[in-house]
Amino acid sequence: MEILKVEHVSKVYGEGPTAVKALDDISFSVNKGEFVAIIGPSGSGKSTLLHILGGVDYPSSGNVYIDQTNIYDLNETQLAVFRRRQIGLIYQFYNLMPVLNVRENVALPLLLDHRKVDEAQLDELLKTLGLSERVNHLPNELSGGQQQRVSIGRALINYPALVLADEPTGNLDGKNSQEILELLKLSNKKYNQTLIVITHDEKIALQADRIISIEDGRIMKDEVIRR
Ligand code: ADP
Ligand code: ADP
Repeated sequence: MEILKVEHVSKVYGEGPTAVKALDDISFSVNKGEFVAIIGPSGSGKSTLLHILGGVDYPSSGNVYIDQTNIYDLNETQLAVFRRRQIGLIYQFYNLMPVLNVRENVALPLLLDHRKVDEAQLDELLKTLGLSERVNHLPNELSGGQQQRVSIGRALINYPALVLADEPTGNLDGKNSQEILELLKLSNKKYNQTLIVITHDEKIALQADRIISIEDGRIMKDEVIRR
């Protein structure tokens, strides 16, 4: 079943002679439960694409359908709600709220939605993430790997259909990188979540079901990994 459909998406930053075409007519689809790696040189448009898939940056033209919803047809309020419920976003530098503790950072999407926090579910998630001993700590009291696990918790708390990660291991050593990837793969398999990860790390890309290569804002290669 198709969960994501990208149709003729282009993105231009700026105007006139200094305009930059970051994405040039990108189209592809992703099935529910697929794990896709996006690779390509720096400046090729990977982050722009991920932000457009995540509903945080508007395309200049084209459409993005998530679970049949044309997300850029939604108004801003509807899109914000859709994003919190259906999309989990993970960044290289975590983007945690510095004044909130681990528990509060993970529960944030629920709190923003005025939804009740299921404390037992939250405890279970924190345990899976290996954060049970750190629930009252602030982000700056955590190691990089721990901060990334908090940001994964925040991305997964709503069981989103789509998990998008922009270089989630880019700031971590090999051991921490693989641990983070294992957590993402676990959730991908257990909940049949769709996982899209931008990475420079070949060891990570080769664990995906499919690798999409981007160059100069275009898809150069789209290959299924057979194992
Ligand atoms: P990647 O993630 O592959 O490194 P990006 O999507 O970050 O690539 O960038 C693609 C192109 O768009 C680059 O040329 C970059 O300089 C440009 N770009 C990215 N964000 C902006 C922005 N906010 N304003 C202007 N240009 C941008
Ligand atoms: P790692 O070896 O995993 O990169 P660190 O050496 O940064 O981790 O930290 C080791 C442990 O000390 C971690 O469990 C972390 O939670 C804790 N820690 C790190 N920095 C602080 C701090 N400023 N305050 C309290 N605890 C900290």
